[in-house]
Amino acid sequence: MAVVEQLVLEPLAASLDLDAFRKNGHSLVDWIADYLATLEQRPVCEPTEPGDVRAKLPVSAPERPEPFSSVLDDLDRVIVPGLAHWQHPGWFAYFPAMASPASVLGELAAAGLGVQGMLWSSAPAVTELECHVLDWLVDLMGLPQSWKTTSAGGGVLTSGASTSTLTALITARERCRGLTGASVEQMAVYASSHAHSSIEKGARLAGIPRVRHLDVDRDFSVKPEALDMAISQDLEQGLAPAAVISALGTTGTTAVDPVRGIGELAAHHQLWHHVDAAYAGSAMVCEEFRHHLDGVELADSYTFNPHKWLATSIDCSVLWVADRKPLNDVMGIEPPYLRNDASDSGQVIDYRNWDISLGRPFRALKLWFVLRTLGAEGLRSLIRLHTQWASDLSERIDNHPRLRRIAPTPFALVSFIHTDGDASTRALAAAINDSNRFFATVSEIEGHPYIRISIGSTWTMRHHVDSLWELIQESTGAMEEASERENPWER
Ligand SMILES: *Cc1c(COP(=O)(O)O)cnc(C)c1O
Repeated sequence: MAVVEQLVLEPLAASLDLDAFRKNGHSLVDWIADYLATLEQRPVCEPTEPGDVRAKLPVSAPERPEPFSSVLDDLDRVIVPGLAHWQHPGWFAYFPAMASPASVLGELAAAGLGVQGMLWSSAPAVTELECHVLDWLVDLMGLPQSWKTTSAGGGVLTSGASTSTLTALITARERCRGLTGASVEQMAVYASSHAHSSIEKGARLAGIPRVRHLDVDRDFSVKPEALDMAISQDLEQGLAPAAVISALGTTGTTAVDPVRGIGELAAHHQLWHHVDAAYAGSAMVCEEFRHHLDGVELADSYTFNPHKWLATSIDCSVLWVADRKPLNDVMGIEPPYLRNDASDSGQVIDYRNWDISLGRPFRALKLWFVLRTLGAEGLRSLIRLHTQWASDLSERIDNHPRLRRIAPTPFALVSFIHTDGDASTRALAAAINDSNRFFATVSEIEGHPYIRISIGSTWTMRHHVDSLWELIQESTGAMEEASERENPWER
């Protein structure tokens, strides 16, 4: 072999050695299992200063191939000490990002297959499995039959609820343009003043210049009258109401907007009605939560994230549409190199016409692994356990003289304050987070802090919630002497 060719092939040969892949793969799975098994012994958030991680990395990329074992070693040396551990059993922050073992393996299988699902013909099973598991979910969650891909609508997997909502808003914009002849500069979007920031961002990216933030009631749920009034005011000014978003579980307190009331107004004024159920949507596997879906059959689109609370790892959001035509009209572009007989036959779904990106990972695989290995039963148990623990914690808080919930607990998020005031609430949050055993989020409503305990991390068990409660009690007792009594939540 020529010297030059040997020099070029030698480093590549090692990277394509399947025996080495097998061995390294096994050691990686062992590494992950060890990480998860020992996670509880670590602080939930590693103490890390900006630049700490990069300071451990070489200035330039390696010139010579390195052994896989040294890459694994650096997971321990460089990466793990620079993380907040979302899979830690003491993780009560934000919303959960469940990464069940089944989902992790599904992700690995998808990477191993290395296929791409832009067209049905580009890897038929990618599209058909995606259609199929999303149709399964329609039945599992009691959603409208018309949302199935076998009907007029259908579901698509996207990278996240932000992408799903952006996609819905772009479709809404085009429908509004078609219906009213309005320009995008005239358009308006409506959402709860507690709506997720992805709605503001989606409207901005869609070029819609105004988002009207609607008043909420004392449970932080939108008042339909507020929507009615906002639409009328905009119509009087010659503006074009394009879309309204209902929150089914706000990020702040999991408040649920009146989906039916909003849907009826949307239908009356011909607005696109999008439902953002990013977090709480997973609970719909259990029948007892489905009263929140009342009126959902009036929605044009709906998003929820299996990657939050349905045991599926990050990068898995569902967008359902009641009618796929307007979505396909907006997203469909057909360059000659993508033409093929199957697409021309009109018999297949080409997900590139549903999604912003052309190239699409095999997201349905991990969802399929999860649905099959947990079963509907397993998923229902998971939701019921988490919501039960949240309701027990709520009861403890309600019975505590110095703590008060600021919102109902319809799912598994408990939002509360210390009744001595903002400083005591912040001190309590600091006591929780400085323990290194638990991590909760402090958020604010109208300038006042409150503590969010979100129950649902993959490895959290009942006893972790009990230990968290013990810490809350101890820390609250220690603050008994706290100074001025002000309670901004009394209203
Ligand atoms: C988390 C969340 C989002 C954003 O989801 P991503 O998948 O991170 O984009 C949107 N809406 C609500 C209500 C959320 O809780």
